[in-house]
Amino acid sequence: MTMTRQFDVAVIGAGPGGYVAAIRASQLGLSAVCIDDWKHPATGKASLGGTCLNVGCIPSKALLESSENYERVLHKFGEHGIGVKDVTLDVGIMQARKDKIVGDFTNGIGYLFKKNKVTSVHGHGRFAASGPNGYSIEVAGDAGTETIAAKYVVIATGSVARPFPGVETDNKLVCDNIGALAFDAVPKRLGIIGAGVIGLEMGSVWRRLGAEVTILEALPGFLALADEHVAQEAFRAFTGQLGLKIYTGAKVSAITPAKATVKVEYEDRNGTRHRVDFDRLVVAIGRIPNTAGLNAEAVGLKLDGRGYLDVDAQCRTNLPNVFAIGDVVRGPMLAHKSSEEGVAVAETIAGQSPHVNLDTVPWVIYTSPEIAWVGKTEQELKAAGIEYRAGQFPFAASGRARALGETGGFVKMLADARTDRILGVHIIGPFASELISEAVVALEFGASSEDIARIVHAHPSLSEAMHEAALGVDKRALNI
Ligand code: FAD
Ligand code: NAD
Repeated sequence: MTMTRQFDVAVIGAGPGGYVAAIRASQLGLSAVCIDDWKHPATGKASLGGTCLNVGCIPSKALLESSENYERVLHKFGEHGIGVKDVTLDVGIMQARKDKIVGDFTNGIGYLFKKNKVTSVHGHGRFAASGPNGYSIEVAGDAGTETIAAKYVVIATGSVARPFPGVETDNKLVCDNIGALAFDAVPKRLGIIGAGVIGLEMGSVWRRLGAEVTILEALPGFLALADEHVAQEAFRAFTGQLGLKIYTGAKVSAITPAKATVKVEYEDRNGTRHRVDFDRLVVAIGRIPNTAGLNAEAVGLKLDGRGYLDVDAQCRTNLPNVFAIGDVVRGPMLAHKSSEEGVAVAETIAGQSPHVNLDTVPWVIYTSPEIAWVGKTEQELKAAGIEYRAGQFPFAASGRARALGETGGFVKMLADARTDRILGVHIIGPFASELISEAVVALEFGASSEDIARIVHAHPSLSEAMHEAALGVDKRALNI
């Protein structure tokens, strides 16, 4: 019989929510264990970092950068007078670079755990029992099963790809994000179901590398979450210069894998039926919370009807001293949101009073042009009957953007018509992912558009577009 190990805090899941929660708990003097079951597909060894590091944020950004470089060499260097002959593409090297970046970061979490005295346990954790002294969690690992006891539990078990009903994801012909990040060659015809964030990012990667990419989106509109002007601009860029074929209002009725191809049947927005063959298919129709293996019933842990854990504003579940964070609870499925909740929960357990403001979580889509936003969209403000003023500045009028050769897109700022408080900022264009930080700070500090308009921005820099958009709210833009 093995001994039960006792901790103050047991975190289940070592994604960006869980590993950060465990580190913060330990920094605050609590004994913390982080239980995670992710295995590297090739080595079979534990690989910390969850979806984000293994098959999400980091590998996708590595491939986006590689494919963008390829695109630049082929189509953009010429205008600088740089001629490159005999351009070659080695997908194996590109994938090895991505794997190295991922490996360095997953190993890095092991280092951070040691540095912060977090105990790391590899295996699948499930609730076994609850009692007056806390909870016991059974962890099934390669070497057998052990029991961990803890006064506090943080559930950070993340999400998995939503499968297409009735279709097996083999990650060879029919893929989710895991397969889509690991192709060993560029498919000639790539089909993608879902024009969401994954569909657009992965579609961009493989299109730039030479695939003919068709995206089938069920909804009649495009990028419904984004500001509608940003979505329109993005649709033009993706279907124009980039060459993605995006069909909205497409109802997929059947997916039939054959030996080397996969057939997709769908009805378009006009009711016409289509049958298309693809060499690979990526299903990117959203993600579902990963709660199935927790044995929630054993302790009476409450899930909502869609499998999410029900939590309050402090991420408390219905059970005393059990918290849940990240993709497994309400709110956007974003790594930085998971991490902030991880920090906040650890601080709550330690008796502090932290707060995570879900209204100022930035969204970024790492396509080219990049898309980023924070706060309310113009259509949300209209629907809520809030009077606002808008300022917009195109990157075509930015000296830095012209020098970069990235002139598409704009910054749009929306401010309350009465108080001038900034309500939303929407960017499509170069380095939108970096520019959005200024807007997040502004929203958090309750800044007005005039505050941004009166701050000195370096010249020539992309941030001048934010400055000009702020000036534009008061109709006093200087360079447009
Ligand atoms: P996860 O990262 O999913 O981690 C959960 C961990 O818990 C996993 O290791 C899992 O194996 C483990 N686990 C589950 N159940 C158990 C159990 N019972 N016992 C033990 N371990 C368990 N977000 C961004 O903010 N920016 C991006 O650029 C971005 N890009 C993305 C690209 C792709 C292709 C995908 C798929 C996602 C992307 N995301 C991005 C979303 C981001 O990855 C998630 O929001 C984030 O990983 C959620 O973190 P988490 O800690 O809640 O869960
Ligand atoms: P998503 O919710 O972004 O998009 C899914 C899309 O699929 C939607 O447009 C939806 O209407 C469509 N859809 C659903 N069912 C369909 C069907 N049967 N046929 C055709 N279309 C269908 O989901 P995703 O792209 O799978 O990504 C999941 C989540 O991962 C994202 O919402 C985001 O939270 C996270 N993510 C973030 C980033 C980032 O931050 N840059 C990158 C990738 C993923």
